[in-house]
Amino acid sequence: MASESVLKINGLTKHYGNLKALDSLDMNVEQGTIYGLLGPNGSGKTTTLSIVMGILRQSSGKYYWFGREPDYRSRLKIGSLIEQPVFYPYLTLNDNLRLLARIRDVGDHDINHVLGTSNLLKRKYSRYKDLSSGLKQRLAIGATLLGDPQVLVLDEPTKSLDPEGFSDLREIIRKESDRGKTIVLASHILDEVEKVCTHVGILKSGSLVMEGRVKDILSGKEVVYVSVEDGDKAIRALSNCQLVEKYEEEQSGNFRILLKDNHTPADLNQYLFEKGVAVSRLVRQKNTLESEFLQLMK
Ligand code: ATP
Repeated sequence: MASESVLKINGLTKHYGNLKALDSLDMNVEQGTIYGLLGPNGSGKTTTLSIVMGILRQSSGKYYWFGREPDYRSRLKIGSLIEQPVFYPYLTLNDNLRLLARIRDVGDHDINHVLGTSNLLKRKYSRYKDLSSGLKQRLAIGATLLGDPQVLVLDEPTKSLDPEGFSDLREIIRKESDRGKTIVLASHILDEVEKVCTHVGILKSGSLVMEGRVKDILSGKEVVYVSVEDGDKAIRALSNCQLVEKYEEEQSGNFRILLKDNHTPADLNQYLFEKGVAVSRLVRQKNTLESEFLQLMK
């Protein structure tokens, strides 16, 4: 049975003057997933998240939250960190969060939960201006949990965080996901996305070039780097090879080869030997999101 869609985007396009930042973008986030939106600088991540949070208006296309056109009630079910929330420098964290809860029209009974989750309980009565930039970012992330929303939308949440902050953020995301929340986060940091996300969407120039389960994208496949004496002979052999999903000659005589599921580098080596291709070097590597990403960006 297909999971319920929490956020569905159909043909979203956004122009800034002459610049087309989003180009008929389609995307689907299912209930209970941790969805990483990846893409190089300027690919449209912030624009996408700003539109679905109602901060920006699209030029054309539609999006649906919980299977419906967005309205005030659907927004109450979403906690987001897109732009830095406006905290008052001279108010304490406690007072800032009480105010934010009132603005968002949610109760302020979970302020301790928010501060505890962000590891800031000890700073409850510190003034906002006295926090370091990393602690401010922790507060901003924690504040998205006010009112216990069903969905979290986070744009580059790792900004300013130290390694401990990264690891705490992963912990928050996993915990909130275990509690049934759906999480959408935009990031550059492929390794972080690979560690925490169940699903990924990869943006390039405002369109989605790949979407799927992280496990499926990485599973079973091995990347093999092969150096050969005779590149042309290798191309002829690889072009008709049942073991190979795709290959690319990165430099003369040096190939990056993605094997089909259940085939090993040893099978490939044997095959090339049988075809008379002399292999001078063969290196196997686990497929990573980074290597998939870099291939897609070519
Ligand atoms: P980054 O990873 O650098 O934050 P991004 O993937 O979030 O990038 P966006 O910020 O959505 O990308 O920008 C997409 C494109 O739209 C970029 O070319 C950007 O320069 C452009 N852009 C964004 N905001 C505006 C604006 N207000 N006016 C004009 N162009 C804009």
